Amino acid sequence: MKKLFLTVGPSKLYPTVPTHIETALQENIPSLSHRSQEFLDLFGSTTDNIRKLLDIPATHQIFFTSCSLEAMERIIQNTVEKKSYHCVNGYFSNVFYSISHDLRKDAQKLEVPAGDGFNFDKIDLSNGTETFCVTHTETSSGVTTSMQDIYRLKEKYPSVLVALDIVSAVPYVSVDFSQIDMAFFSVQKGMGLPAGLCVLIVNEKALEKSNWLHKKGISTGSYHSFASLREFAEKNQTVETPNVLDIYLLEKVTRDMLSKGIDRIREETDTKAELLYNFFEKHSQYKPVVEESIRAKTVVVLDSKGNTFEIAKKLSDKGFAVSTGYAENQNKYIRVANFPALSIEDTKNFIHTFKELFS
Ligand SMILES: *Cc1c(COP(=O)(O)O)cnc(C)c1O
Repeated sequence: MKKLFLTVGPSKLYPTVPTHIETALQENIPSLSHRSQEFLDLFGSTTDNIRKLLDIPATHQIFFTSCSLEAMERIIQNTVEKKSYHCVNGYFSNVFYSISHDLRKDAQKLEVPAGDGFNFDKIDLSNGTETFCVTHTETSSGVTTSMQDIYRLKEKYPSVLVALDIVSAVPYVSVDFSQIDMAFFSVQKGMGLPAGLCVLIVNEKALEKSNWLHKKGISTGSYHSFASLREFAEKNQTVETPNVLDIYLLEKVTRDMLSKGIDRIREETDTKAELLYNFFEKHSQYKPVVEESIRAKTVVVLDSKGNTFEIAKKLSDKGFAVSTGYAENQNKYIRVANFPALSIEDTKNFIHTFKELFS
């Protein structure tokens, strides 16, 4: 049976991807050398599309890494000599914190339970914080952090670099890059692509910091130091042999998204989120976990009352794949994606089946 993947990553492929994969094979894309002119052109048009779709200014460079965890590590290595600060409210934000700690930095955190948001008034970055790390949509708990809160914090501490995880928020989230120094997303969530590629967006200030650390004799990494990524990106190249197929698919899907229009994508996401939240808000048993004001539009988390596996199994038998909770919340939550790859029809079908199975 062909299943509908409402999992929160990897997730349903963007509808045009199967055709693009076929074309890629016909055009021998997986055999393309990453030093060939075809690849340089592909790199150029992919980054152009990403720039247009997400409104990224010329002050920011676009790099490719293999995954988001790599992007986190590169950000810490390249912009933190001593101190980073992290907002932690679930698995992925905690990984960012742990990476800094593992790299022997003095990683500070404001930690709240999974499902909660942050009180930004409690954040004090005046004691030497170099980079502030925050997750826009914490995929493990379905909580979003307000961009306005982040911008206000940046205004208060303009010299602190801000690194933003937008993995499961993209392309829905609208980011004012004049106030954000670094951001990243892997492609298997909101972009609806096969995993194995991440986009890392870095501004001049962050690149300067990396150079400064390097000159001071502090390691900024090796082949994927910011300096090395930049040197190659400026030639429309990658340092290593990259996932050329995924870059090709990203070029195609960002083009498809541009022709659909980002506004329409965002409107549809809002519509589907409303359908999901309205339905589960009124559900007799399985209600949303997160309080309304901080709920993610793109990741809907439900309280499964300890029936996660039973619910997932019954849905699976009907052709719908959903995610369990993450780590210690595995059997407490059901997580449902609301990414652009999923149509309004998909969401309605899911709700209809859920209603039939669990009234
Ligand atoms: C999935 C996810 C990651 C990790 O992505 P990888 O591609 O597996 O490295 C990081 N942050 C968030 C918010 C995620 O949802």
